[in-house]
Amino acid sequence: MGEKRMPVLFVGHGTPMNAIEDNQYSQTWDRLGRELPKPEAVVCISAHWETVGTEVTGMEKPKTIHDFDGFPRALFEKEYPAPGDPSLAINICSTARPVTIRPNLTWGLDHGAWSVLCRMYPQADVPVLQISLDRTRDGLFHYNLGRSLRFLRETGVLVIGSGNIVHNLMLMSWGGYPYEWAEEIDRQVRDYIVQGNHDPLIRYEKLGPGVKYAINSGEHYLPLLYVLAMQREDEPVEFFNESIVAGSVSMRGVIIGRE
Ligand code: ZN
Repeated sequence: MGEKRMPVLFVGHGTPMNAIEDNQYSQTWDRLGRELPKPEAVVCISAHWETVGTEVTGMEKPKTIHDFDGFPRALFEKEYPAPGDPSLAINICSTARPVTIRPNLTWGLDHGAWSVLCRMYPQADVPVLQISLDRTRDGLFHYNLGRSLRFLRETGVLVIGSGNIVHNLMLMSWGGYPYEWAEEIDRQVRDYIVQGNHDPLIRYEKLGPGVKYAINSGEHYLPLLYVLAMQREDEPVEFFNESIVAGSVSMRGVIIGRE
């Protein structure tokens, strides 16, 4: 196991096409995979795995899940054969108390995880686990669960939250300018992260009038709370891919604790 504390990452994943397209976003993920210390394993909290109760993937060989419609065949044929790590899953279940985390043997890797990881670690040589989002719970629950999983950083594990800080598919407009509320909420979230002021981010429903559009369903935002919860005092924060696409999707990424 690694001895150094690993950084923590939030990635705005956007469209699954980023998995197979060379663009500014996927190129940044590629660069981060080379720049960050190579992890023993990745634990990903993805917007695309919502459950009742919290689960962690415990299989040896997670399958690639093509959880989208209407994309080119090349994307459906893309496989990401990274191994799992059943012993790490057991470790997570037994350490996360008082929260109960159940091992799951049927999920795999959804595109929130693999579309990013196939760019960061194209060799698929780093074991990957996913932890699900319990959608019966509020922001504080997710933040506290992230806190109880913070130990992973000391064991060579790279934790990645994968979603989008601002995300509204109903109001997407290709080629249009970002909505004011999208820019406003993205900027507010960035400022609170810079200040290390997590309380307003945990209670994100109260961020401002635009939040009902900017974070209209929550699942793409909540992985951010796991990442913030893992920050130690005075650890540096960096941002990447700071832009809004399709009017209503923020691609902003966050790196916490890179030396
Ligand atoms: Zn998504």
